[in-house]
Amino acid sequence: MASWQERSRRAAGAFLLCRGCLGPLDGAAVAGLCGRCWSGLVPLVEERCARCALVHGEGDCPEPTAWSHGDALWDYHGGRPPLGALLLPAIKAGEAGWRKALLGQVADAALPAWTADVDRVTAAPTALHRRLLRGFDLAEEAASLLARRLERPFQSLLTKAWRTGRQAARTESQRRRLPKAAITLRGPRLSGGTVLLVDDVWTTGTTLLRCAQALRAGGADDVRVLTLFRAL
Ligand SMILES: [Zn+2]
Ligand SMILES: [Zn+2]
Repeated sequence: MASWQERSRRAAGAFLLCRGCLGPLDGAAVAGLCGRCWSGLVPLVEERCARCALVHGEGDCPEPTAWSHGDALWDYHGGRPPLGALLLPAIKAGEAGWRKALLGQVADAALPAWTADVDRVTAAPTALHRRLLRGFDLAEEAASLLARRLERPFQSLLTKAWRTGRQAARTESQRRRLPKAAITLRGPRLSGGTVLLVDDVWTTGTTLLRCAQALRAGGADDVRVLTLFRAL
């Protein structure tokens, strides 16, 4: 039997507005976001490159990559309001309900067929102080969830130096200059195999590039990249 407080909270909840579009909350609402807002989790356009997940002309991929396959589950700017741009900063600031709901979507999302051929799953690392400050690591949570789905081990293979600072506070050119030494292999050398590298959002790709380079230099035969969002 629900307490009076609980029933009252539920009744009040019925009149709340969607925290994304400020429209009425519909029956498909999850974590305070209506079904229309959640439908902003849209896949990338079909004509995208199989390595950089962007659209470009025929021929070799012009983006610097150190992986054979690269893709994202959703377009960061998909939906109205753009859902990735709404969710990720809030989740990183501690919005636990949205984090749980987003991970629920990751659990159900269609995965690229090539994820079936990986040997292990790892995550792009977050600097330790940032992780301690937040109390969670979204990339790592997504990676271990995907590892369970793929029935492969999740391994925390990479570490990020604390001095590299905050990506969002940097300019585009500063991000591109992220030094190679900033991301290194955490444990012993890998004995070959294919690693699935997971991150929350893929923007310039510099962090993913440094991660993939560290994995390749550390003995991985092949690296494949899958992020939750791709920002174009
Ligand atoms: Zn909404
Ligand atoms: Zn490409």
